[in-house]
Amino acid sequence: IQSKLPNVGTTIFTTMSQLAVQTGAINLSQGFPDFDGPQALREAVGHHVMAGHNQYSPMTGLPALREQIARKIARSYGRQVDMDEEITITPGATEAIFCALQALVRPGDEVIVLDPCYDSYEPSVELAGGRCVHVPLALPDFSIDWQRLADALSPRTRLIILNSPHNPSGALLSRDELEQLARLIRGSDIYLVSDEVYEHLIYDGARHASVLAHEELYARAFVVSSFGKTYHVTGWKTGYVVAPPALSAELRKVHQFVAFCGVSPLQWALADYMAACPEHVDELPAFYQAKRDLFCDLLAGSRFTFTRAPGTYFQLADYSAIRDDLDDVEMSLWLTREHGVATIPVSVFYQSPPAGLRLVRFCFAKREETLRQAAEKLCRV
Ligand code: PMP
Ligand code: GLN
Repeated sequence: IQSKLPNVGTTIFTTMSQLAVQTGAINLSQGFPDFDGPQALREAVGHHVMAGHNQYSPMTGLPALREQIARKIARSYGRQVDMDEEITITPGATEAIFCALQALVRPGDEVIVLDPCYDSYEPSVELAGGRCVHVPLALPDFSIDWQRLADALSPRTRLIILNSPHNPSGALLSRDELEQLARLIRGSDIYLVSDEVYEHLIYDGARHASVLAHEELYARAFVVSSFGKTYHVTGWKTGYVVAPPALSAELRKVHQFVAFCGVSPLQWALADYMAACPEHVDELPAFYQAKRDLFCDLLAGSRFTFTRAPGTYFQLADYSAIRDDLDDVEMSLWLTREHGVATIPVSVFYQSPPAGLRLVRFCFAKREETLRQAAEKLCRV
């Protein structure tokens, strides 16, 4: 077969999670919690399945859930969105991103991605006939290098993909950086996909600078989120995209032929739970910060070096004091096989990884006992 995606193989998440299972290693690789979502939320799914909410939801998503999302956006970011015209519920953020890209990217268009970036972006751009232009974030803090970004823009630039809080680094975009971006693309017809799936996983008292709270950027943006992250249910693959009416209309043209709609009983359950427990999202920062701090405090006894992640449930660590002879893929395999902790190498999120990058990513969305066991092993490395 002449492949449409010749450079795509099995994702690193599948590879490392499988290896963790095969070797019995503690899996801090692929990002998912090893604990369950709220009991009332899970019970609500059973209730709605038994109550007969098992047929298609509207293509745009269950109204009751879109209403809760609109309320949350008003509470969190002060924006009033029209739930009928601007919110579309999707089977996962990945599908939302895919549909946004198919809707906008034309053959020959360029899409700017900031490396390291999430692995689904580039294949989605390529399937639309576009080409990714990779702009590396500046080390060590993974901030935007404005000169490089400006230099990467061309008359063919259709869209820029943002991701804050950022996977894999945990870095955050500030309100000032959004402002700088607005200045940079003012007067152009460049669109944005803002991947904000970790919007509520943000620490040390910081606040999420959402594109939803930026008038000028929102006018040209698809803002994507995921219930999987916010409610500890990654396997539910339920997310949503918020965009101005004209952009939402284009996205829906694609979404209705990719999935048509999300899973109905899950949407009912999420709507109930959001209505009953709007404070869930306010409690997430403290909940995950305690995990980050526990893991980092324990890891301080190891030879890994790191600065605490400002957001997401990922912690990067530099291992150059341990095995500078190994690249990060080799290091991840070695840690999994020889030390019983599976991690994700950071270079796989790059088109051209910086020479000598010695970083691995740990997922700390784990029970305290898992984090303690993993840290104990890592302190022996
Ligand atoms: N974007 C980023 C940055 C992610 O880390 C993830 C998590 N897999 C997704 C998108 C996809 O989310 P979902 O599982 O809802 O498709
Ligand atoms: N977002 C998850 C991560 O970064 C992976 C999701 C997936 O396996 N596609 O680990």
